[in-house]
Amino acid sequence: MAQIHIENVRKDFGSFNAVKSSTFTIEDGEFFMLLGPSGCGKTTTLRMMAGLELPTSGEIYIDGEEVGQKPASQRDIAFVFQMFALYPHMNVGKNISYPLRCQGMSKAAVKKKVGEIAEILGITDILNTPVGGLSGGDRQRVALGRAIVRDPKAFFMDEPLGALDAEFREHMSEELRALHDRMSATTVYVTHDQLEAMQMGDKIVVMNHGSVEQFGVPQDIYDWPATKFVAQFIGSPPMNFLDFNGMIGKGGSEVHLHETTMSIPKSIDGANGALSFGVRPEHVRLDDAAPYRGRVKATEYLGTTQIVTLETANGDLKARVASSDKVTVGDQTGLTFDPRTITLFDAETGAALRSQANEGVLIHG
Ligand code: ATP
Repeated sequence: MAQIHIENVRKDFGSFNAVKSSTFTIEDGEFFMLLGPSGCGKTTTLRMMAGLELPTSGEIYIDGEEVGQKPASQRDIAFVFQMFALYPHMNVGKNISYPLRCQGMSKAAVKKKVGEIAEILGITDILNTPVGGLSGGDRQRVALGRAIVRDPKAFFMDEPLGALDAEFREHMSEELRALHDRMSATTVYVTHDQLEAMQMGDKIVVMNHGSVEQFGVPQDIYDWPATKFVAQFIGSPPMNFLDFNGMIGKGGSEVHLHETTMSIPKSIDGANGALSFGVRPEHVRLDDAAPYRGRVKATEYLGTTQIVTLETANGDLKARVASSDKVTVGDQTGLTFDPRTITLFDAETGAALRSQANEGVLIHG
């Protein structure tokens, strides 16, 4: 098993900078997600860690050893590109044992190892079955078995569930996570699906335009996004932003959101212009008595909750409220926000403004 650390890793393709200087650590045994929109540099970052692409600059360490210029064959990792990539002319057992037979392992040792892996994956009864007639799920288990059988230091997976329909995808993601928990193998997993990253990952790196926007555990990334990009990319519906002007001086200050005044904690500094007030839909409350007002533009029924779109003086806002709440399009209503759940962003740079003491923003009517 392995700890992986990348330090200021950069990748250029000709004059195009695909990955900007990236630094993060994947701890031994972690299920680690590389998350971001298409083209943000996830696959390139994974391929550099795997040794399939050389970094233009920076260092890559596996268990403390610098491997940035070493080929993939010397890094002892297993790369699962697409779980469906099996050898069609071999049966299940032969597919799984292939890497061991290539290493020259004895027949008896191969048989023992394949038996153990088949047991873990629950495919003992199909070891002699040709792979051609297998279901999608079994094909994926066989492909995983072939990766696991070598006991590599780490598993690298690039959108392995991308081609599956939603229901089967959820089932396989649970199975993959359970398999990881059983084996505790360091796993690096590329996805553009924020829900998949939140559900499966111990830690997440969020990338955008080749840069690492944030790195941390799913809950911190959701609750305390480092940038507006992360706040929008994670969560469905995403975080709301209300823009307003305010100046934050050295000793903290007050800013005005329509007729509501907010006190900004003293320890937040760094912004001196337009601010964005970020609040997640589930932290917006409809309260007729509240001074900050909105008009209901639309409602979307989702079973136990509903999403209410509101027009405010500072832009549109979505609230997630109980579906039993009576809300009618055209209604005027008051809105309140739990101050401990608000994130303020510098509207120009998109960076979150942090209170060192994690104080909430105080709101006065
Ligand atoms: P996707 O999910 O769409 O694969 P990604 O986040 O994995 O996106 P990468 O595949 O890492 O993104 O690509 C990052 C950028 O680098 C893209 O703009 C891509 O076109 C470019 N790129 C990747 N490989 C090469 C290459 N060999 N030559 C030139 N440009 C490349």
